[in-house]
Amino acid sequence: MNPNISVEAIGIWLEPLRPLLDPGNHLDWPRLTALAETLDELIAIHPIATGPYGHERSDQLRAIRIELARSGLLDTTQQPALFAVLAQFVCGYCDIDLRDSTGLGHGALIAHHASPAARRHWVPRLLDGELAGIAVTEPHGGSNPAATTTAAVTAKDGSWRVTGRKAWISRLTEATVFVVFFRAPDGHLAAAAVDATEPGLHRQPITPAGLAGWAWGILDLDQVPIRPDDVLRGDGMALLRNHFARYRPLITATALGGAAAMFDAVTAALTDRQTTGGVARLRDTALVTVGRAHAQLVTGLLGAVAAAQLAESGHPHAERWSAVMKAHGIDLADRATTDLMPLVGAAGFRADGQLVKIRRDLGALLYADGVHDSLYRAAGKQHTALTASSPHPVSGLLPVSA
Ligand SMILES: Cc1cc2nc3c(=O)[nH]c(=O)nc-3n(C[C@H](O)[C@H](O)[C@H](O)COP(=O)(O)OP(=O)(O)OC[C@H]3O[C@@H](n4cnc5c(N)ncnc54)[C@H](O)[C@@H]3O)c2cc1C
Repeated sequence: MNPNISVEAIGIWLEPLRPLLDPGNHLDWPRLTALAETLDELIAIHPIATGPYGHERSDQLRAIRIELARSGLLDTTQQPALFAVLAQFVCGYCDIDLRDSTGLGHGALIAHHASPAARRHWVPRLLDGELAGIAVTEPHGGSNPAATTTAAVTAKDGSWRVTGRKAWISRLTEATVFVVFFRAPDGHLAAAAVDATEPGLHRQPITPAGLAGWAWGILDLDQVPIRPDDVLRGDGMALLRNHFARYRPLITATALGGAAAMFDAVTAALTDRQTTGGVARLRDTALVTVGRAHAQLVTGLLGAVAAAQLAESGHPHAERWSAVMKAHGIDLADRATTDLMPLVGAAGFRADGQLVKIRRDLGALLYADGVHDSLYRAAGKQHTALTASSPHPVSGLLPVSA
């Protein structure tokens, strides 16, 4: 593997966009380059296996996250949203499983909404490299969180006990804290930070077909205690929406980074084939695919940046933008890589190869953090919603489950 892979991601993909993304030159580009250089060094030390059953991968991924923390590069909380998006593009360029390598991830929910005691307890640990998981999805369907059945009852000592089943949970065995969504005793959707060592948590790992870097599967909660300090402040549905408005652009950028890496590998192979005389000239169909894929990936990234900046500014349409730009950007990455794969022939199809892994990881991202038809539909419904008194579309937000 090229030892300067992430640094190239900045030069090839981000530098040309720099005047557009950062016209005032305010972004800390040297920090982004330092991140890329450090990632290259860390991946050389902790190579992430690409085969289909990579249980050992999470050790390498955790080691990379911890080393990034030690070198001061994990923490994106003091950076603008643009930086966090570009940092995740660079991570994805190395490996889409690095989707949790910078920032607080789902721990941002704790940093923004937890009690002071819970923030003091968890945030420094997350910034030192520990991981937060999120437990929203249930067997009835993740696209309908309003139908959550996991529920708390009030115990004799006044604390809550939560019981229920969460499905398809990533970071199942690696997270040190889960942000769990459940019904409070009064019936409202609520969220709480739950210590992963709670004895009432039971796990059933399932091997995923993609994003296999972290353990994944069922998380059962059996009378898990929730103390008042564990409960996040605010309505659960609003917390979920605000969080994913910020989180989805990061995931989209990670996916597009992975697709950009495939683009560069495929174009390098095509160029090599031509220069070494393997083919007299490149076919027009291949050239069309390459040209279209580049446009797809660049516009996907611009969409993710736009969504991240709307979320950062608190724009009322930020949730809608992040939802559709996640679906659109990852659909584009998925299509571009589907079209690019055959251009390198069977050499790209080996199970332990990076290209096949990128395809598998993108396949997983069609579901993780929101299944796409559901995201497009929710946005379409908002665009066409009418008020009782006005024939014009309503600009406000509708429930995720609508
Ligand atoms: C790799 C991976 C990692 C994940 N990590 C996590 C995690 O860490 N935490 C977490 O909480 N979840 C996680 N998920 C779950 C993910 O969020 C869900 O897969 C996603 O929200 C969709 O939910 P679902 O799979 O239950 O599908 P469903 O919600 O059942 O949707 C499946 C299909 O049914 C459609 N549908 C929904 N309602 C109707 C209806 N009324 N009529 C007809 N069709 C309908 C949907 O539009 C969709 O096409 C992960 C998933 C994957 C694949």
